[in-house]
Amino acid sequence: MNGTKTYAVADRAKRDEVHVAENYAPLPVVVAEAQGVWMTDADGRRYLDLLAAYSAVNFGHRHPAIVEALTTQLERVALTSRAFMNDRLEPFAAALAELCGKDLVLPMNTGAEAVETGIKVARAWGYRVKGIPAGKARVIVAAGNFHGRTTTIVSFSDDAQARDDFGPYTPGFDTVPYGDADAIAAAITDETAAVLIEPIQGEAGVIIPPEGYLRRIREICDERNVLFIADEIQSGLGRVGETFACDREGVVPDLYLLGKALGGGILPVSAVVGDRDVLGVIRPGEHGSTFGGNPLAAAVGLRVVELLESGEFQERARQLGAHLASALQPLLGNGVSDVRIAGLWAGVDIDPAVGTGRQIAERLRERGVLVKDTHGQTIRIAPPLVIRATELDWAVEQLRLALAD
Ligand SMILES: *Cc1c(COP(=O)(O)O)cnc(C)c1O
Repeated sequence: MNGTKTYAVADRAKRDEVHVAENYAPLPVVVAEAQGVWMTDADGRRYLDLLAAYSAVNFGHRHPAIVEALTTQLERVALTSRAFMNDRLEPFAAALAELCGKDLVLPMNTGAEAVETGIKVARAWGYRVKGIPAGKARVIVAAGNFHGRTTTIVSFSDDAQARDDFGPYTPGFDTVPYGDADAIAAAITDETAAVLIEPIQGEAGVIIPPEGYLRRIREICDERNVLFIADEIQSGLGRVGETFACDREGVVPDLYLLGKALGGGILPVSAVVGDRDVLGVIRPGEHGSTFGGNPLAAAVGLRVVELLESGEFQERARQLGAHLASALQPLLGNGVSDVRIAGLWAGVDIDPAVGTGRQIAERLRERGVLVKDTHGQTIRIAPPLVIRATELDWAVEQLRLALAD
């Protein structure tokens, strides 16, 4: 804090980030502390967190069991590199593999790294197992996707903001409309190694594909000898009322890409999870990460898996999601033009007559509720899964008031 000088919140936010490159346009709130579903700003004002760091904070800020796993591990060893083994990685991998019903886990740090890893695994599988001619492997992706920010990943984004001026682009990707399984079938050739899909598109505004889409992709991939890669980085680990969004259709992909909540809201922890016949194509020296699979991350990731094993968070997401759906219902036609909801994850389209998504997010901030707009007119509601029904009701009431402001 700056002595006796006081600044408007917006000024101070700006002031506090004068040395931060402007790759984000944050809301004017400077968070200083957080616990559970509440964040406190530098002036002591409290805000209900309806973003949960894009689902990285599914278990709430500083969940005691996760903090305990972290601090206990800090007393032992934090970082070893994979040049040596550490005694936390195998327990974490074993638990995560079991949660996924798979054989192997390849640990990384960020979501984008998990996506990059999935692409590399798919290409190597394409050459070594499927027999695609060298350098020819292709991956089918969906329009409107968000898989991260690396040069390869933005190469198959169709969001101009994410992509423009960052070329030359990585070749080898074919884009089809989202939600249309026939388009995937039509796009597959002998050179197709994988289909890479978000089971629900998060950044695009919680876009839920038609029922049967994931099942159909599974069938097509089986028939055509193509890998099905599910990017569950935002949709997975409890958010939709199941462990994975693929569970909504009883579908098991060949590779799960996980991140965000896998780090328990504390550390970046990501992973690719698959069976030995696919993930086993990677040999020593071909892929890696200095930090991936470090003991601290593994201890946190193991605790996250343990929290998910009881099904308690999945159940909360289901029940609270139903509660949220009925609370949002009266807003339809009253400032809200559409609501899409899966578990405790809602995309709420704001009627342009009452403002943009950003304007509603700013009005909500003034009312003590933090959300993030996406693609202009949409706000996403994805609170930590530990939120109470009464807190959700209060937040929806603030939204109703913000729409009328
Ligand atoms: C956030 C996200 C990513 C990228 O994760 P980072 O940790 O930001 O690199 C990839 N895929 C999906 C679906 C995401 O939501």
